[in-house]
Amino acid sequence: MNINDEISKLQKYAKENNVPIMLEDGLNFLTNYIKENNIKNILEIGTAIGYSAIKMALIGKDIKVTTIERDEERYIEAKKNIKKFNLEEQITLIHSDAFEVNLNTNFDLIFIDAAKAQNIKFFEKFENNLRENGTIITDNLNFHGLVNIDEKEITSRNVRGIVRKTKAYIEYLKNNSHYQTTFYSVGDGISISIKK
Ligand code: SAH
Ligand code: MG
Repeated sequence: MNINDEISKLQKYAKENNVPIMLEDGLNFLTNYIKENNIKNILEIGTAIGYSAIKMALIGKDIKVTTIERDEERYIEAKKNIKKFNLEEQITLIHSDAFEVNLNTNFDLIFIDAAKAQNIKFFEKFENNLRENGTIITDNLNFHGLVNIDEKEITSRNVRGIVRKTKAYIEYLKNNSHYQTTFYSVGDGISISIKK
């Protein structure tokens, strides 16, 4: 199996099926952070088809990823992809709504990449599973560039709602004194929140 070819196939599948996987530069930024900070145990909220989980697991054999996906079709696709890459030992895939999942282990890194309107709720639920000085990373804080434009220009009520909630989440992170948060305009906008 050629890993690069298989990764390209995942990207192609995502594009053809409108699966919102991470942008390539955002993903490189994430994997570099994992390498540089010697992160080993990762919890991901929002697997989709397993693309980002697979990329994180491929960093090294000692990396463990637990990842949660609620959508049945995507879960099935993720399961298949994880098997194809022979990463079943490293990736634990959970088919459930993340709000129904209760884990009793702690992680070095929690990566939030699920329903954008629920970010504060994900953060507050899963910070209980973050180790001392651990990191919470969140994707899509620019929400496809929409966070930075005039709300009046957004015609969809639903999208406007997500943009407002994303802005509220950014404020929440800025004001959360238990964490040191830095915002990066890489990919679709990524935050790194380090627990003090
Ligand atoms: N991290 C993936 C992309 C995830 S897309 C990658 O970059 O490869 C976001 C996913 O989160 C979607 O597949 C959606 O079904 C899932 N999701 C949204 N809300 C969720 C929830 N409450 N629990 C579990 N999964 C959720
Ligand atoms: Mg994303």
